[in-house]
Amino acid sequence: MAWKCPKCGRTFSRQQQDHYCVKPQNIDEYIAAQDESVQPRLREVRAVLRDALPEAEERISWSMPTYWKGKNLIHFAAFQKHLGIYPGDEAIVAFADELSGYETSKGAIRLPYDRELPAELLTRLAGWCYEQYRK
Ligand SMILES: [Zn+2]
Repeated sequence: MAWKCPKCGRTFSRQQQDHYCVKPQNIDEYIAAQDESVQPRLREVRAVLRDALPEAEERISWSMPTYWKGKNLIHFAAFQKHLGIYPGDEAIVAFADELSGYETSKGAIRLPYDRELPAELLTRLAGWCYEQYRK
């Protein structure tokens, strides 16, 4: 079972893995701290969200890359086998039909790395979060 360091947010295959633990201060550092095999996908999702949310600020919140406009709009996070997208419960309800092909749980969507990134859906989802949540 994978272990996610609560301090820096990196995921390891071994529990309590020793590592040089640095809390990422920005999205570049977060991506650089993840396994090389998932970095291209993280850069891909970041590009999609940045294009979808030109007015939002990129920051780290809850140890995750976050898009912020007066309020957290959407987060993403790297796991061993999937990318987690956190648009909030309301967004998951609003997009339930379109997300039916993906595993979702309270506030989270799991996008497996072995499937293509649903960029168009993420763009609309992020836009929805912007309209609903921004302050
Ligand atoms: Zn750590």
